[in-house]
Amino acid sequence: MSTNHPQETDSMSPFREQPRWHTPTLPLAPALLALVLLSPPTPTGAQDSGRYWGDEVPSGWNGSWPDELQTVAEESAFTRTTSSTQLLEYIDALQWRTEKLHVFNLFISPRGKAAPALVLSDPRVTSAREARESGKPVVYLHGNIHPPEPEATEALLMVARDILLGAREGLLQNQIVVIVPIFNVDGTDTFVLQDGSLGSTTPHIVGVRANSQGIDLNRDAVKLETPEVNALYRFFAEWDPILFLDGHLMGRVNHGYANTYAQSTVPAGHPGPRTYMDEELFPAVRDRVREEFGLEVFTHALFSPRAWPPTEWSHDRAAWTTEAKFVVNDFGLRNRMAIITETPGQPTFERRIYAQYAYILALLEYTNAHAGEMEEVVRAADEETVTRVLEESESGELRNWLAGEYRSRGSVDVLGYPSVVPEYLPGTSVRGTRTEGGAGEPELVRGVADMTLPVGTRDAWMPRGYLIPAAHGDVVAKLEAHNVTVTVLEEPLRAEGEEFRITARTAVRSRGYEMPALEGDFVSVEREFPAGTFFVDMAQPMANAAFYYLEPRSADGFVGWGVMDRALDAAMTGDPPAIYPVFKVRREVR
Ligand SMILES: [Zn+2]
Repeated sequence: MSTNHPQETDSMSPFREQPRWHTPTLPLAPALLALVLLSPPTPTGAQDSGRYWGDEVPSGWNGSWPDELQTVAEESAFTRTTSSTQLLEYIDALQWRTEKLHVFNLFISPRGKAAPALVLSDPRVTSAREARESGKPVVYLHGNIHPPEPEATEALLMVARDILLGAREGLLQNQIVVIVPIFNVDGTDTFVLQDGSLGSTTPHIVGVRANSQGIDLNRDAVKLETPEVNALYRFFAEWDPILFLDGHLMGRVNHGYANTYAQSTVPAGHPGPRTYMDEELFPAVRDRVREEFGLEVFTHALFSPRAWPPTEWSHDRAAWTTEAKFVVNDFGLRNRMAIITETPGQPTFERRIYAQYAYILALLEYTNAHAGEMEEVVRAADEETVTRVLEESESGELRNWLAGEYRSRGSVDVLGYPSVVPEYLPGTSVRGTRTEGGAGEPELVRGVADMTLPVGTRDAWMPRGYLIPAAHGDVVAKLEAHNVTVTVLEEPLRAEGEEFRITARTAVRSRGYEMPALEGDFVSVEREFPAGTFFVDMAQPMANAAFYYLEPRSADGFVGWGVMDRALDAAMTGDPPAIYPVFKVRREVR
């Protein structure tokens, strides 16, 4: 009994048919209200508009601190950034002055350097278990996954100082803040002269983008081939942060924002956290940054076309995608919240640090005030992910997305500088931006299509479970590194479900990567699986991630990132048809 069953269709996912995600708007508790009232006043020195444009920052924005508590950026008049050794010195200075800091090494890098994680909590916690027992959610922030973009690193050092020793101690009331200031530690310490490609001359010396293996850590979120991202994922599994912020810079821009932000846009992720961020968190933090810090921030996107006036505000143009390879995008598959910030490259280093500092503090104010509400959103996403698999997978009704694209949310008004144009830097093939004109108040471009809404374009049935032959322990190890729970069959199992018959093993070129791809058809079959076969029970919170990694036709799952290469080589050696070595279980046959 075997019928062809074309599994991928353009039909609607049940996720898309859900009613809009609703979150109760909770009134501010009196204690929180008092905190808000006690927070420092808006910095003085704002221009007439109350905004700081171009390179402007409020005077004295970073406070006055003794020499030993100055960051490298501060003591160099914002011309240098912190090395891994200078980071340890700074942490040492903090640690002697507070009871609220615990430090551990997220990892030791291939070049033997520590990547310290700062756990800020009141009272202090020194382990993931103590963090869980405290009942407070963990918020995780890091800088320098791309070391030539060190604004967030410098801002995070100031934020840690403000929380531990300054006026922001209230931010630990309802949350635990974990900061890894320098994530790509080997790239950070590989110093090169800045070549002007940022659009700004500062800092004069920067690290390199890749790690010591030459790998871009922010493309390793599915493949997990670097020790750095593997360590990050072990931390995620142990500490389970509800929100993750990853700080970046994007050169060659002509928008008028001090900082920009995006979140996970992989359509396979549960829509609850994503919708909450779009509707609640992002607008509130944006307003807070304007009110408290005098800066305009908006979605991470770029104008399209380059001609003025632009007609679209586009994630695609800013190299943001619906693929999971970025750590922030992949994090959404865990039913959690994640933010990438991207400051524009052409303002001064000081201005870029101020922009990251403002965004991070406003965000932490929000997360501290809404910790319980955010926790409810992510727990509800976990529970619903499990419930839907239990209730709807066997019938075949449960579907999820394999790929996506951006469509318009409607029209928006966007700030931009028409006179800032990309051009080649003298004597190089590097495209920079002319900075004159990127100062003063930008123009408000009205009615631009907001092309930042992720929508699914190709979907598939989400099974009750996946079965993987015992020979493919390497694939299972990768699932486990992603925090997917995998068990081993103790007895043989007869299962009805679908297998994927491969008709072609091809490759697609995607944004600089040559990615393996498969063509074929799903066929309904009944099969017997021996004891020792691996079983991925999809009734688990990581089901959306497991689905995205294991499906043979995912945009950038395990097939695309080569994780299945060895298993596919084995599958292709026998007589045709070659069967994809992951079986989709509909139900057990007794
Ligand atoms: Zn970057």
